[in-house]
Amino acid sequence: MPDNLAELTIHQARELLKGRQLSSVELTRAYLDRISKIEPEVQAFVTITDELALKQAEAADRLLADDNAGPLTGIPVLIKDVICTRGVRTTCSSKILENLVPPYDATVVEKLKAGNAVILGKANMDEFAMGSSTENSAFFTTHNPWDLSRVPGGSSGGSAAGVAAGETVYALGSDTGGSIRQPAGFCSVVGFKPTYGRVRRYGLVAFASSLDQIGPLTRDVTDCALVMNTIAGYDSRDSTSAPEPVPDYTRCLKADLKGMRIGVPKEYFVEGMQAEVDKAIKAGIGQLEKLGAEIDWEVSLPHTPYALAVYYIIAPSEASANLARYDGVKYGFSYQAPSMWESLERTRQHGFGAEVKRRIMLGTYALSAGYYDAYYLKAQKVRTLIRREFDRAFEKYDALVTPTSPTVPFKIGEKVDDPLQMYLSDVCTMPVNIAGLPAISIPAGFADGLPIGLQIISKPFAEETIFKVAHAYEQSTDWHKRRPKI
Ligand code: GLN
Repeated sequence: MPDNLAELTIHQARELLKGRQLSSVELTRAYLDRISKIEPEVQAFVTITDELALKQAEAADRLLADDNAGPLTGIPVLIKDVICTRGVRTTCSSKILENLVPPYDATVVEKLKAGNAVILGKANMDEFAMGSSTENSAFFTTHNPWDLSRVPGGSSGGSAAGVAAGETVYALGSDTGGSIRQPAGFCSVVGFKPTYGRVRRYGLVAFASSLDQIGPLTRDVTDCALVMNTIAGYDSRDSTSAPEPVPDYTRCLKADLKGMRIGVPKEYFVEGMQAEVDKAIKAGIGQLEKLGAEIDWEVSLPHTPYALAVYYIIAPSEASANLARYDGVKYGFSYQAPSMWESLERTRQHGFGAEVKRRIMLGTYALSAGYYDAYYLKAQKVRTLIRREFDRAFEKYDALVTPTSPTVPFKIGEKVDDPLQMYLSDVCTMPVNIAGLPAISIPAGFADGLPIGLQIISKPFAEETIFKVAHAYEQSTDWHKRRPKI
């Protein structure tokens, strides 16, 4: 595969396909070749759907020949394995769903198929999206293409690594507490978490239903806007999806930042943050200032430090309820024992990994009689305070800018035995989910060759503001053009 094909953005691929300089089958074959070469090192895929991909590519080529193609037609995509795909195994990287083949597509998959995308396969992740490194996958750990001894982040680690390594043009992930943005930051790709309710979630396996969102991982901001044009919108099958009209997100990409008010909340520059990350983020903000934005460096959001604690009450509580359905009766792994109760117990004992069990126990405890008021109810109240604090900030600022993570990608194995340290890698991303806001992570530098991500947050349904800032920044730097040597 010529190196440049592995670096193509959606919009560049689109030009080549439209101009007949390349066919979708050629493009797809090139990606499948590259996958077979580097996948043993990266391990981003749980399932490779080569036959399906080539069939879809042939169909796309027919449409392209008739000049009847959309923006994503014939372009390869990788889908996180928590999103249901009809006829294609959807495992959530869990033993309990190892052999589950859904009889239906998630709405976002339907939308991609209707847009004639080419599905290359399903991406590895932390089991049921619980984790920050993919080390909680029941199958294997994905490796960071920038340094194979390090994690790609998580839980959408396979999606991020796949895009960074040139194994796919773009990917879908899901973000409950940072799972799109944190791996995007760790792999130097663009990762976007839309406003809660913006993207249809029907067919996304539920982790924490008041926090989960699907979003794109791409090589640049334009691609991110293009994918959002296809996946955003209302769905009668998802009662939490918003009836708000969907704009053409590519429209806002050419604007300049004059008069844009940007706040820098000091609580996101946490203790223990790496000096190189601090430096790169501050340089990035300085760059926004040069582009015409008015920066307030002195913003304070004092409830921020509670977001992590609130998240680790609410997310496990919702998970404990959502995961009650895996009992070995209707689908998934089933342990056969003489009694019903023993079957149930053993199914869950052998089917779930350690982190998932830890979350179920935490959540069941927080919801139990006598503790509910002290934990769950209290967490909900603090959640409201965090949300209001953001509301007030957005009366003054169009956007807030922070680091995506306090550190660069850590070594595989470094944090597996210390859940609290692992949880801390999402301190900068979680408040956004708690408040249901949209946010992006974009490439913003490197420390010793390891990626650093910059996070831009805005108010609900202001994804256009985010794309505007992100695109202006991206056009003035070349971080997003760097590719790992793999
Ligand atoms: N790392 C966080 C967790 O373990 C967030 C995961 C996510 O966003 N899905 O819960």
